[in-house]
Amino acid sequence: MTEFSSPNVEAVGDGLYRLRQLDGDRWISQFALLGPAATLVVDTGLPASPAASLLPFLEAHRRLSPERPLLVLLTHPDSDHCGGTGALLAAAPWAEIHAHARDVPQLGSAARTIASRYLAHAEDGVGPDARAIARLRSRLGGEFRVDRRLEGEVAISFGDGREVTIVELPGHSRGHTGVWLADRRVLIAADAVMGFGIPDLDGGLKFAPQFFSPTAYRATVARVEALAPETLLCAHEPTMTGAAVPAFLADSRDAAAELERLTWAALGTVGAPLGSICEAVQSGYPRPLSCGPADLAMTVAGILEEGIAAGDVDASEERPRRFRRA
Ligand SMILES: [Zn+2]
Repeated sequence: MTEFSSPNVEAVGDGLYRLRQLDGDRWISQFALLGPAATLVVDTGLPASPAASLLPFLEAHRRLSPERPLLVLLTHPDSDHCGGTGALLAAAPWAEIHAHARDVPQLGSAARTIASRYLAHAEDGVGPDARAIARLRSRLGGEFRVDRRLEGEVAISFGDGREVTIVELPGHSRGHTGVWLADRRVLIAADAVMGFGIPDLDGGLKFAPQFFSPTAYRATVARVEALAPETLLCAHEPTMTGAAVPAFLADSRDAAAELERLTWAALGTVGAPLGSICEAVQSGYPRPLSCGPADLAMTVAGILEEGIAAGDVDASEERPRRFRRA
């Protein structure tokens, strides 16, 4: 067998690989687990990722034929994780696409993903402009179907008595999933835990952690701490092992607390729109972020929504809403 080798294929061990591509000034990752009876691919990258990495890798390992079951898990509905699915299915139509039921409504069509995820805060005056929407449309790739909607934790067997567990790690999306390889204590977490944010190539930060609910995100950090992985595989970070894992989880918890503190500090007794609260949170964040304030909208809105539900935040009726302390 010809070994497919590339500086951007990392052997994590025992049939598990990370495939990376550059996306501007950051790395994006997909993962492939070559089991005895089936292959599991976690995420499909951007539309160009399958041709650049995934398909030649699977071909070299003789996994690209209709007789070899190919399971694909989409961890969440962001373009750098699901945008390659249409291209992958064009080359391997027998692949079985899995995603959490709570994320399925945001998957399979660029228009739907944009409307429900990227334009979620447009009514509050924050969201991508027409140019950014056109870019998102091309990054989300062609339409695709989801074959299996996951709910709860699901064991997947690979033959020879080996199995992995798809775990629920909500926060970055409502249905964010990960893969737990209990026998070797490896967690493929994608973007479920985000440290202080998504790094760029120069050691800076592009995005702060993005979550729809601080409570859900905190619970996911605690869940990952309880699993106590020896190896943690996040999509935009180098592979973490040993003491780097609890340190990254502590950063994830601290960054979420900081985002909550800054959101509360930006709220006055006079109503402020979402956009200006995002600007205040960005300028107070302990590390510089190269994104725009709109990239903080999911997190800030998530914190405000929980404040509204608890009766601690008032929101005006008209859109865009203005938020103030209750
Ligand atoms: Zn990502």
